Amino acid sequence: MADKITVKDGKIEIPDNSIIPFIEGDGIGPDIMSASMHVWDSTVEKIYAGKRKIEWKEIYAGEKANEKVGSFLPEETPETIEEHVIAIKGPLTTPVGGGFRSLNVSLRQILDLYACVRPVSWVKGVPAPVRHPEKLDVVVFRENTEDVYAGIEWEQGSTEAKKIIDFIGTELGKKIRPDSGIGIKPISVTGTKRLVRKAIRYAIDNNRRTVTLVHKGNIMKFTEGAFKIWGYELAVDEFRDFVITEAELWDQVMADDGVTPTTKEGAFADLRGGKPAGDSGGRIVVKDRIADQTFQQVLLRPAEYDVLAMPNLNGDYLSDACAAQVGGLGLAPGANIGDFVALFEATHGTAPKYRGMDKVNPGSLLLSGVMMLEYMGWKEAADAIRAALEKTVLEKKVTYDLARQMEGVSPVKTSNFAKAIVANL
Ligand code: NAP
Repeated sequence: MADKITVKDGKIEIPDNSIIPFIEGDGIGPDIMSASMHVWDSTVEKIYAGKRKIEWKEIYAGEKANEKVGSFLPEETPETIEEHVIAIKGPLTTPVGGGFRSLNVSLRQILDLYACVRPVSWVKGVPAPVRHPEKLDVVVFRENTEDVYAGIEWEQGSTEAKKIIDFIGTELGKKIRPDSGIGIKPISVTGTKRLVRKAIRYAIDNNRRTVTLVHKGNIMKFTEGAFKIWGYELAVDEFRDFVITEAELWDQVMADDGVTPTTKEGAFADLRGGKPAGDSGGRIVVKDRIADQTFQQVLLRPAEYDVLAMPNLNGDYLSDACAAQVGGLGLAPGANIGDFVALFEATHGTAPKYRGMDKVNPGSLLLSGVMMLEYMGWKEAADAIRAALEKTVLEKKVTYDLARQMEGVSPVKTSNFAKAIVANL
């Protein structure tokens, strides 16, 4: 008998036979969902020999929901996700004039899924634009609810924009050009700390070496700069036994008598590589970097980065940039996670021109399912899928998007790609 996943005493409880709701998705959604499910189910069956199973429960959002019940996002959809704690979805078309900014954004807001988590690592054999894609292995934690994405903005020329410009001018003495549009960038202690807490907790649970706070605090002191300050505060207040800040480690290195400044620099370089010569005592190093320099560092010194935590806009840009570095969004998984509720999803859109053609790459959704299995603690199944996927790519059995970047390779269909992965389990 299948059971619901529950949260008890602050912990997620996963039955061996778990019910997991899924949203098929629009456009290419049905193609990539059925291919991915074939791989997930076959893997769980093979690895746990019937001891564990996922019981899928279809729920509706997007075009399919609109056809069935006349609403793009029926009320019971987020309710069912919340009730079952873990769910997975394909991409959804944003209805034009449907009253939604985006169905994805609505789901995140309704369920307060405040962390967008995007692991980025290279799958062997995937064509990538850099010489050493294998050196990048990061997990981006992007704050999902605040920043300039909070949706608090007014059009140039509107009464509201004018009011705010006048208020800021007369009451606060700051001049804004009268023909400006206005957007508000709120970043709170609450929003920052719950995100950084999740990133550090992840680093501890997954034996990661460093957590980097990525911000633009040199320019935006009271929003991005505060993110950095509150991030360090949280790290030291709540995780003192598990973390050491980069500044503390540097002090240790500098205080170490008999070490010349040059070797101290060397030691610090090692530390940046995640192998601290100063004694981190096995603790996670918490450091911070300015956003623009992080973009060049992930390219030039990728091995020095690990878990990255940042406000919304930085995270939006950096997660796609990192994904591009290892070969693009086709194989980039993602999840939006709250305190416990987690919605795993393909990071690309509905690619409507390929709808029903059994053509596209299911890798992004497939690997989001791998993240989901890890979140459930079904690690053996997650590892098995990753290994089989890699083997399949190395055999050059790939969909059109990867095939067109490889010499002399003919593409396979979505469904055959999934079958090849299952054969390689
Ligand atoms: P898109 O659907 O991601 O497609 C853009 C291009 O990316 C495709 O034409 C294709 O490139 C490539 N691509 C996407 N998914 C692929 C896959 N699985 N395998 C291989 N290639 C893939 O972006 P869009 O055209 O901007 O958006 C279309 C719709 O999706 C919009 O309604 C948008 O709102 C929605 N959307 C939803 C989500 C979500 O649900 N999370 C996210 C983004 C967009 P080639 O043309 O080069 O083959």
